[in-house]
Amino acid sequence: MTHFATVLSAAMTVETIDRNLTDAVPKGHVRLALATASLCGTDLHYYRHFSNAGFNMQRAVTLGHEACAYVVDANGSTLTAGKLVALNPIINCGTCENCSAGLENHCSNKKFPGSATTVPHIDGFFQAAFDFPATCCYPVPDGTNPEHLTFAEPLACSMHSVTMTGAKQGDRILITGCGPMGLLAVVAAKAKGIDVHVTDVRGGPVDLAVQIGASRGFVAGQHDPDNDSYDAVIEASGSPHAFNTALDTVKRRGKVSILSNIQLSDVPVNLHKIMLKEVAVTGSFQFNAEFKQALDLITSGQQEFEQLIAARFSLADTRAALDYMLAGKAAGKILIKPA
Ligand SMILES: [Zn+2]
Ligand SMILES: [Zn+2]
Repeated sequence: MTHFATVLSAAMTVETIDRNLTDAVPKGHVRLALATASLCGTDLHYYRHFSNAGFNMQRAVTLGHEACAYVVDANGSTLTAGKLVALNPIINCGTCENCSAGLENHCSNKKFPGSATTVPHIDGFFQAAFDFPATCCYPVPDGTNPEHLTFAEPLACSMHSVTMTGAKQGDRILITGCGPMGLLAVVAAKAKGIDVHVTDVRGGPVDLAVQIGASRGFVAGQHDPDNDSYDAVIEASGSPHAFNTALDTVKRRGKVSILSNIQLSDVPVNLHKIMLKEVAVTGSFQFNAEFKQALDLITSGQQEFEQLIAARFSLADTRAALDYMLAGKAAGKILIKPA
């Protein structure tokens, strides 16, 4: 079977190819047809640099780890052909110390598609068809919108950042950065009954965050949130300036959860405030039980995801989609459709 695939062959170079899938689906896998995928900041890093966070691609690879798909060949699994499934891209071993503790995100034998962290690389979801482990496929109720279901993975990441803050119903948190992850963190916090404020240097995304449920939005430089006033802060911008804002605005003994991939820069970070205020700073990497919680929220219909869709591109225009994201003007998620 031949199908349409995109491959990143070098920095800023996405090619389209016809790829051959062997007739036999590998054991434990199912054959899938892409329904909808979405672009992640990680994909953009690989597109720009052919590397991300110090991991270099060793061969041409198909990007994409946020998607849902239709089952084509259930291959003896409990799934049924034609069913729409959400894809959990974390392929964990299930037996290591971290898996046993429910921490699949830290599985010591983890595999992840479209990523240089897994060697040999596994091709990701920006292709028309692919085989994937049946245990990573989650069937959803009929009528679920695939464009919304593709939010499951990034929403789970954002939910995990809320988990890591320890914030609970009635608490107030600040989210610094209203890119797709910050916006989905608004959704995640609101679903837990947490009051959310946001800040970003761009007015448009701040307005969008307020539309989807933030009770207050600050455009950095024009209005700024009060110091020492939040139970927790989620840093979702990647800017060291925003990390300083987090340290300023979090309450004494509060928590800062880092959802972004902050890079070293010349901007001084006020690390002494961690000591002075006894701030607990934590990372937030992927997700665990939150994937199922994200599915439940999406399929419940309680949250409107339509406003979070910035643009739609066809698979053949994956490169144009990445360029659109690179231009930085999109508010929300960029979707990839098979045709
Ligand atoms: Zn992602
Ligand atoms: Zn494991």
